[in-house]
Amino acid sequence: MSVPSEAAGGLTTRPPIPKPVPAYLPTTGSPLTVDSGVSSSIQSTPRTLIESFTLPIRSGRAWTASAGSIVRISTPEGPQVGDLNIWNLHNPREHFWASRTRQLHASHVSTHDRLWSCLPYMRPMLTILADSLDRYGQDEHGGRVHDLLGTRCDPYINKVLSGGSYDFHCHSNLTRAVLPYGLTEFDVHDVINLFQVTGLDEKGRYFMNPCPARKGDYIEFLAEQDVLMALSTCPGGDLSLWGFGTDSGKEMINCCRPLKVEVFKLEDADLLQRVGWRPSEPAKYRGMHGIVVVEGEQRS
Ligand SMILES: [Zn+2]
Repeated sequence: MSVPSEAAGGLTTRPPIPKPVPAYLPTTGSPLTVDSGVSSSIQSTPRTLIESFTLPIRSGRAWTASAGSIVRISTPEGPQVGDLNIWNLHNPREHFWASRTRQLHASHVSTHDRLWSCLPYMRPMLTILADSLDRYGQDEHGGRVHDLLGTRCDPYINKVLSGGSYDFHCHSNLTRAVLPYGLTEFDVHDVINLFQVTGLDEKGRYFMNPCPARKGDYIEFLAEQDVLMALSTCPGGDLSLWGFGTDSGKEMINCCRPLKVEVFKLEDADLLQRVGWRPSEPAKYRGMHGIVVVEGEQRS
């Protein structure tokens, strides 16, 4: 296929280049690489349920999980998208960084990928231990599941694009969820869209396909540090009827289902230590970005 040089930005004048390799391709021993044997031993060892709740449709709730515990989020009644936020439990300035995670792993994540925190911390918050939807792979339109391309739905863009007012978008659900923990709307950040299938079309435009989850599908995380997590059951439900406007809003409630959250601790409290696991630590960079700060007035 010939491409006009103007349309291609003059690429026809450039010699061909080889297919690029992923910029952050993990290697053995890299912090991006999870030891699958260690991961499966943690995931399969007996565990004790310490918290469990079912999140109703179009709502939000937050909970805590200590380092070394397992968090399981599932679809007890079938397909439903969930928007997830994560903070360090003791320091909400450290929170999930969706775009860096997308860059380090992939646009859609699954078993053995990690969810990383923002600067100046830059460490794993959660590691995905298991994902029953890894069967989905890539669909015929290039869609994949557990989305890091997009973000949460919110009432502001809804107003901009449709003129409507609605108080139970994921952004609002997450905002209400964290109020009991002393956080506000300004602490809500870009999410991971759990169970959500998305992709980019041939022009790079974002699209969403219906959620493929069935009853009992799940994703499980190992908490790599003490975390506060908040989840919203997206008012778009399974996204099979997604759209803007009042009428579509009424229809979408027909494809909304609850999500279930469970937090477990390992019965063998020493297992994590035996397999060499430690809570994650912030990146060691302690520079000053080249800044030299004077103590006070300089006298000659
Ligand atoms: Zn949403």
